[in-house]
Amino acid sequence: MIPTTLELTADPNGIARAADLLRQGLLVAFPTETVYGLGGDARDGEAVARIYEAKGRPSFNPLIAHVASVEAAQRFVQWSDQAERLANAFWPGPLTLVLPLKPGHGVSSLVTAGLDTLAVRVPAHPTARALLAAVDGPVAAPSANPSGQISPTTATHVHAGLGGRIAAVLDDGPCGVGLESTIVGLTGEPSLLRPGGVALEKIETVLNTRLHLHKAGDMLTAPGQLQSHYAPDAPVRLNAETVQGDEVLLGFGPVICDMNLSETSSLTEAAANLFAALHSLNKTGRPIAISPIPDHGLGAAINDRLRRAAAPRDS
Ligand code: AMP
Ligand code: MG
Repeated sequence: MIPTTLELTADPNGIARAADLLRQGLLVAFPTETVYGLGGDARDGEAVARIYEAKGRPSFNPLIAHVASVEAAQRFVQWSDQAERLANAFWPGPLTLVLPLKPGHGVSSLVTAGLDTLAVRVPAHPTARALLAAVDGPVAAPSANPSGQISPTTATHVHAGLGGRIAAVLDDGPCGVGLESTIVGLTGEPSLLRPGGVALEKIETVLNTRLHLHKAGDMLTAPGQLQSHYAPDAPVRLNAETVQGDEVLLGFGPVICDMNLSETSSLTEAAANLFAALHSLNKTGRPIAISPIPDHGLGAAINDRLRRAAAPRDS
């Protein structure tokens, strides 16, 4: 654990220090025009796992990757005419675009929760932009508060909630309105995935089309929360001590297995490896047995995901 959380001032030195910490895989809270975000290097699975650990999130849902510019976003996602129009109109700003990932993107599958799409945004806050430019990479950043608590709009709020659990807070005074970014899906017909800081009507005007609206219930349901959204094709059996029949074993800790989430029983490492492991074992076409995973800390979120993978299928 991190004993003290550094308080960094949002000047060039503080921003450079924050960027260094992020590059080391540590967590830094930083201001955006919506709320303070809890940033971790989106290419570093263990850093992303630490975000879940620090927030005490009980489940993995996809996170937004924050980048400094349109060009930076284009390194990770397949750009489109619609993305271009929305980015021209609303970036930097509180609009998040969900687009297909590009081959060789390098983003941790814990950021996308195993999806083949990525939510990206260029925030408008000058300190956030300076930090992202200094990191020169995608930074995953949900709100910097313990899971289930109110989003922070000052560095003091961040300290109160996460002090001692993250490396640093980059303090630039109170931020914004506390309204989240609007999320637009551009992987099929354009759709509103979450209302937020940019009004629906403005987006529709720019795209010259109506956005597909989800039913009230869906809006609250992050894709990661859908019961069998990331379910492998093969049956999944949890808490397996030994393999049965044709099963492949996804291990945890010192066990003989086909693939190990963490030989050293590190929950952070296991979380970082989880989605990639499920994908690759799924490709074997064999049923998947999974070792018991302790149910504390990050283990709770891992087990939540595994229970969904093992749940009866929707279709
Ligand atoms: P937060 O970072 O807490 O503002 O929440 C991120 C939101 O973005 C969640 O509601 C996610 O479901 C949504 N999101 C992130 N990535 C994706 C994606 N690839 N597809 C659809 N929604 C996404
Ligand atoms: Mg939040």
